[in-house]
Amino acid sequence: MIHPSQRDKENEPAYRREASGPMCRPPFLGGNKMVRPVIAGNWKMNKTVAESVDFAKGLRDALTAATVPEVIIAPPFTSLGAVAEVLRGSSIRLAAQNLHEAPKGAFTGEISAGMLSGAGCTHVIIGHSERRTLFGETDARVNLKLRTALAATLTPIFCIGETLQEREENRMKPVIERQLKEGLNNFSADDISRLLIAYEPVWAIGTGKTAAPAQAEEVHGLIRGWIADRYGKERAAGIAILYGGSVTPKNVVDLMRQPDIDGALVGGASLEVASFVQLVEYQNIQGV
Ligand code: PEP
Repeated sequence: MIHPSQRDKENEPAYRREASGPMCRPPFLGGNKMVRPVIAGNWKMNKTVAESVDFAKGLRDALTAATVPEVIIAPPFTSLGAVAEVLRGSSIRLAAQNLHEAPKGAFTGEISAGMLSGAGCTHVIIGHSERRTLFGETDARVNLKLRTALAATLTPIFCIGETLQEREENRMKPVIERQLKEGLNNFSADDISRLLIAYEPVWAIGTGKTAAPAQAEEVHGLIRGWIADRYGKERAAGIAILYGGSVTPKNVVDLMRQPDIDGALVGGASLEVASFVQLVEYQNIQGV
């Protein structure tokens, strides 16, 4: 395994090698990554308000000013307000797991972007595969939700990924490109710079099957290349692309060593303070 700082610059993808100027943030972790790492926890439909508050206090107290990654947690809607109170004044960011694209109205059971901002959210997960497969969210709907989030100055965590069947039928690339094309339809270069992307192969979510680091890197490179082709190399190099799918303290380091993996979106291993803190402090597991 080659440490990023030892990697031959000549072997870098062109968009990364040539990236320079104001869009490029300084390298992090002594490597040559252009973006600050992000570790985000998606709690899904887990934790009561009391359990969420306990977790948030534990996490807040465990992290120090030396914490390198941007840390985001996504509790269920019912816990957002209480968790926001606990996180006030800390650097931990609060995400919702979904939103409705309308600003308000007769949409029983739904939550608007304004409600999320008002509750203290800075981020929102959009297009998670569970929303797509269990609740029928289409790429067009995902596009509307992404626009709504940006208009409300929420940072979307835009999730894409292929199913096992699509991978086995050699359709990973067209599926990822379709999700990017339709999800980001009519996005300006500025819009692109305001989102995080999460590559989450559906077959790896909650299954214990992680994509091999090289397998994940291939898709992250594809995503960054797609953005570079349409929005330029500098923009592409400045976007954080997270990997999601059974990330644990055991596999996070090898994933984070990949040049195009800038962070992780974590489900199961984000539910316990101890394992989530290990993920956040992955650079202490081994040097990255
Ligand atoms: C997720 O839900 O986004 C996820 C990646 O879950 P897990 O880490 O449990 O696979």
